Parts: sequence; C-alpha cells; structure tokens
Amino acid sequence: MGKLQGKTVFITGASAGIGAACAQAFAQEGARLLLAARRIDRLNEMTPGLKQAGAADVHAFALDVQQNAAVTSAVENLPEEWKRIDVLVNNAGLSRGLDKLYAGHTEDWDEMIDTNVKGLLYVTRAVVPGMVERGSGHVINMGSTAGEMTYPSGAVYCATKAAERAINDGLRQDLLGTPVRVTSIDPGMVETDFSLVRFRGDDERAAKVYQNITPLSPADVADAIVWTATRPSHVNIARVSMTSIDQANSMMFNRKQR
Ligand code: NAP
Repeated sequence: MGKLQGKTVFITGASAGIGAACAQAFAQEGARLLLAARRIDRLNEMTPGLKQAGAADVHAFALDVQQNAAVTSAVENLPEEWKRIDVLVNNAGLSRGLDKLYAGHTEDWDEMIDTNVKGLLYVTRAVVPGMVERGSGHVINMGSTAGEMTYPSGAVYCATKAAERAINDGLRQDLLGTPVRVTSIDPGMVETDFSLVRFRGDDERAAKVYQNITPLSPADVADAIVWTATRPSHVNIARVSMTSIDQANSMMFNRKQR
C-alpha cells in the first residue's frame, strides 16, 4: 500500500515538467490527485496513466492561477468528495525573458509576478483555511535557488522566488499552533519546458541552457517533494535546497568541455 493511500493531493501546474512528475510520484503512493493547469487537454491525456501508476482517483480541471476569482470559485465548487485537500503543491510558475532589468518588458514582469507570487497566494488563501479547520494539511511551495541568489538578467524571476521564500516562511509562522505543515522546495536547474517558455518557443536557445551539463530531472524534484510529504506528521521540513552535481548555486555550473 502506498504511503499516501487515499490522501488528496492538489497540484497546480500539473500539465508539464515538475508538476507532471509530482502527479506520477504521488500516484505511485496511492494518492487521490487533484490536478490543475490551463492546458486541460494535457491533464486529461495524463489521467489514465496516473490511474495505472496507482492513483486512487484523479480529478482534473482547467485553472489559471493568475485569476483570483476563478481560483476561489474552483476551490469552493470542488465536488464534495474532493474538498478535503491533504497536500497542496503550489507548483504553477514560469519565467519570461532574460533581459537586463532596465531593458525588461513590463508585460513579462506582470506575468511572472501574477503567476509565481500572486497565483501562489490566491491558491494558498483558497485552500489553507480548510486545512486549519480540519486540523491537518501540508503546503509545499515551489521555490528555487534563484530565490537564494539573484543571477544577471533574471532579477524579476529571482524576485518572485525570493518572495516565495518569504511567503513560505511567513505562512509557517502564521500556522504555528496548527498541525498544518509548510515546506519550500528550492531546486537549481531542472530540465523541463521552463527555458522553452522563458524564450517563447526558441528551441535552440532553450537547449543551450542544458548543454554539456547534467541537470536535475523533474522526477528528482518530485522524489524530494514526496519525501517531505511522507515524514511523520510532527516533522516539518522547512526547505529543501537541491541542485545537480554540476551546479553549486544559481550562478556556478560545471559545463563539461567536449
Ligand atoms: P514547465 O515544464 O514549463 O511547467 C510549468 C507548469 O506551470 C505547467 O504545467 C503550466 O501549465 C503551469 N502554469 C504556468 N502558468 C500557469 C498559470 N497561470 N496557471 C496555472 N498553471 C500555470 O516548468 P517547470 O520547470 O516544471 O516549472 C514548475 C515550477 O518549478 C515553477 O514554479 C518554476 O518556477 C519552478 N522551478 C523550475 C526550475 C527549472 O529549472 N525548471 C528550477 C527551480 C524552480 P499550463 O501552461 O498548462 O497552464
């Protein structure tokens, strides 16, 4: 029997990358999966495979975390049997552009802040009161090594992840005295669609990010996330900072010479 048999795990941004890998890893532990992203077609395609992998059940719905009213209404109007969320993985996020701050595009800044900071807050605000009321829950926020150390031309993305760090720590303080746990997962470079999204579909530029380096895989990150969710209920893992062996921090990489 899986370690999270029958527990309801809500994953935002489950249609790709780390979120999709989390769905797979939680499925293997027997969880009931509540999956959200804008690309509902992808979530629907994933569903049979997740059930086959061990998910007790799957409920997928389209959600743009930038839309506060839509987030509130989606959580409020969940089918009765999906309302008791045990684990929230606040994963939805993105980067846009790699520009010097003074030459950046304000619409890119808005999208990153609206998704990575405000979206995470909206989902948290909608889900956590139920956890407090039921006296059980775990919020796992997706941070980054980018929130620990700012890198050139990435100031706004790094700022969103520094904000995640502050929100993660603040939420843990505000939940002290309740049994609700709060964890930040802070990975370095992970090979996903992240760079493709950052460079708006420029494959060649995205591929260069991972050239001559072994990055983390989405499954590596999902493994750490499931580990934090399967500790004894009195153990709160505050933060997991993780990189591949080819990365020391958000600035230093071991690119192999060929
Ligand atoms: P990815 O492969 O591009 O996946 C991003 C996911 O977020 C997709 O499922 C996307 O789904 C969803 N998403 C984006 N905007 C959304 C919105 N407004 N509403 C709902 N869902 C939204 O990238 P990833 O690397 O897995 O990124 C996942 C998280 O990990 C992000 O928070 C990212 O900042 C963080 N992270 C990534 C890395 C890395 O190197 N890859 C490192 C550290 C942290 P839809 O497009 O279908 O909505």
